Amino acid sequence: MEDCLFCKIVANEIPTKKIYEDDKVLAFGDINPQAPVHILIIPKKHIAGLDDVREEDCALLGHIQLVASKLAEDNKLFDGYRLVNNCGIDGGQTVIHLHYHLLGGRTFGWPPG
Ligand code: 5GP
Ligand code: ZN
Repeated sequence: MEDCLFCKIVANEIPTKKIYEDDKVLAFGDINPQAPVHILIIPKKHIAGLDDVREEDCALLGHIQLVASKLAEDNKLFDGYRLVNNCGIDGGQTVIHLHYHLLGGRTFGWPPG
């Protein structure tokens, strides 16, 4: 998708330090980390957000969660972590390409701000 920041990262048009990649997903460090570990996990396929996920994407979403769990282990987040999707304006979504934040390395409060 043209003019999508994360599609440009997938296409190597914007240099980013990749943390994990396979044929379906890409993970890279957030440019403005909110925790000692702050990794963005995205599908390579352009999906605008969680509201745009369709039945055929269910395996892809499950795969993203497995990748998140693997990356948490790789980063030694044995005391826990948070996996976040911000959806839409009220959810705080700023980049319109589905992504999950893997946050760890500190204790998070609840409810979120
Ligand atoms: P959202 O607010 O949409 O849930 O999250 C978007 C995230 O993308 C933010 O945490 C922001 O810091 C991150 N981000 C925005 N632009 C870039 C970029 O060019 N490179 C990287 N690595 N992260 C970005
Ligand atoms: Zn995109």
